[in-house]
Amino acid sequence: MNARLIVATPLTLALASALVITACKREQPATPATAEPAPAEPVAAEPAPASEPPAHSIRPATGAVPPTEESIAKVKEQIKASAAAMRQKWAGKTFEDFEATVFKEPGENGKYIVDADVAIADRKLLQEFFADMQAGLNGTAQGKLVVNQIAGEDAAPGTSDLAVMVANGRADIWNSAKKKQLRYCVSNTFAARHDAVLADMKAAARAWEEAANVAFVHVPSEDANCTASNPNVVFDVRPVNVGGQYYARAFFPNDQRAARNVLIDNSSFELPGDEALTLAGILRHELGHTLGWRHEHTRPEAGACFEDSQFDPITAYDSLSVMHYPHCNGGGDWSLMLTSKDKAGAACIYGKGSNNTESLGQCLFRLPDVTTTGSETSVSFANESVAKGAKKDYAVFAVKPNSVFQVRMSGAGPGDPDLYVRFTGVPELKRWSCRPFLSNANETCELQVPANRQTAFVQVRGYTAATYQLDVKYVKPD
Ligand SMILES: [Zn+2]
Repeated sequence: MNARLIVATPLTLALASALVITACKREQPATPATAEPAPAEPVAAEPAPASEPPAHSIRPATGAVPPTEESIAKVKEQIKASAAAMRQKWAGKTFEDFEATVFKEPGENGKYIVDADVAIADRKLLQEFFADMQAGLNGTAQGKLVVNQIAGEDAAPGTSDLAVMVANGRADIWNSAKKKQLRYCVSNTFAARHDAVLADMKAAARAWEEAANVAFVHVPSEDANCTASNPNVVFDVRPVNVGGQYYARAFFPNDQRAARNVLIDNSSFELPGDEALTLAGILRHELGHTLGWRHEHTRPEAGACFEDSQFDPITAYDSLSVMHYPHCNGGGDWSLMLTSKDKAGAACIYGKGSNNTESLGQCLFRLPDVTTTGSETSVSFANESVAKGAKKDYAVFAVKPNSVFQVRMSGAGPGDPDLYVRFTGVPELKRWSCRPFLSNANETCELQVPANRQTAFVQVRGYTAATYQLDVKYVKPD
């Protein structure tokens, strides 16, 4: 029994993972975890007529389940049973069988939505998920996956309780250079709704900026070209029509540029008038994901809607958190405001924002607000190639602790190279700190070097034979 989980402990910090839960559904009944996990049914591409809004049912909050050893053990048993049922359901079936059941968002870089709220950015990652599920490598919770963990040797061993918690993975958060430069565009394709969406984005951003030392920066000049491939912004905000599959979905910091989008479904503009739910509230929740926060209700203390265990608690459990669905035994009313614990948790990770009086003494997990000095070194490797199934290692980079290490891979050809970065040794298939694993050559790893590391290892593997270029930027040790 993990003692940390028993502690009545708001914000959860996502570990870096390729497969993340970012979508926020309009309706997600709090089904028991023993329910047969059914893959998401494909949703008809036809939108619901505007005159007939999608069925809407928000359950009243019932309050959190007390986090006793017994209730947590029960949830864990239910998760095991769900995982076994999922494996049995797909035993002997092909990936194509599985893929046919998965909803794919329409439009540019549409993600695969597994079980309605797990967003998978690339077909290769979906294949990996399926293979791991069949092999029993991944557990599932209510049919949702438990993602691969990033090998955790980057954590400082034995320095504190927390090191144990982070030992299985790297925290998925913005580095100190990026957190004040979260540049975004709001697509002009919102048309008549553009200014209202922008106002709500700014309001949502302000709530987090007051809590934490982060800055969301709207770049108006990019609104006319606000696509998933626009390199001048960190993320794009666009309309989508998924027929009510979710209100909106976001991303985690670790996601690649093409996957970093906040997509807003038409249903978000047809909210029920008798609820506290607003688009600004939805966006407060979504921007929480973009800072690295998982759903609060994935903590066993919620007693419902458990997703997986890929998180570290930052503060005590908070049934009122902006990241907690009210219908998952939450205590909130869909106004989706930041609570005291949300504000504290955000500051535990990013430092305090412009208006935050919470005590950081309540942080269960805290990161120092480090900045490093030193001049940046750039090195490029042009006209590189790798054969299918082969790997190519680059000379070890000597790096300054806490500095930012960035590798950008690019390629115009049809080949598919995969970029791997690790700080504690040569990367291996399942041991890496960053591995975007996209179906093309355009992959970027931008990481903060751990405080106790001074080396970085870069490797490229040929998923297919490929040519590419690598551009590396880093800070050498003093
Ligand atoms: Zn969410």
